[in-house]
Amino acid sequence: MKLPNAIKATGNDIKDVKAVVFGHLHLDHAGGLEHFIDSGVPIYVHEEEFKHGAWAVATKADYGVYLPHYFDLERLNWKTFTDAHFEIYQGMTLHHSPGHTPGLCVMQINLPKDGTFIVTTDQYHVAEMFENDTPHGWLARDHTAWIRSHEMIKQLQRMFKATMIFGHDKEVFEQLTTPKKVFE
Ligand SMILES: [Zn+2]
Repeated sequence: MKLPNAIKATGNDIKDVKAVVFGHLHLDHAGGLEHFIDSGVPIYVHEEEFKHGAWAVATKADYGVYLPHYFDLERLNWKTFTDAHFEIYQGMTLHHSPGHTPGLCVMQINLPKDGTFIVTTDQYHVAEMFENDTPHGWLARDHTAWIRSHEMIKQLQRMFKATMIFGHDKEVFEQLTTPKKVFE
């Protein structure tokens, strides 16, 4: 499903999108930017991730997991931040969690009725990595950083009793979204 259709399926229109927020810029998490060219819509990503991705593409140091065409420097409205904990909107905070990539951020969302959610992108591909403290071998570019990020996220989860949503865990996602379609 292409991005405009995926957004339409939620009852919204791609023209209503106010901002794009990236957890990291690997190709399987960063598609669809062609729809935002010349739109002025801010594209948020941690400064470390933007720099690393551009470097990895330009030097071919990590080519293949980052793609050159989405580093449009003129026609996309890139917005980077350097804060370790960045409240992008009220109740929505990005936590810098290096390890899988240098600039990966997990997103914490505090909802008034349903409580706190943490969307982990590829800090954890599946639930077992979080639950069993298992880093992901060669997929982690920086093992020590991953462990530090993991400790920070575990503490966040305990503090807010957060529901976790992992980067590639379809089972967890379906358990959460099958009984309930809207979270408030
Ligand atoms: Zn990734």
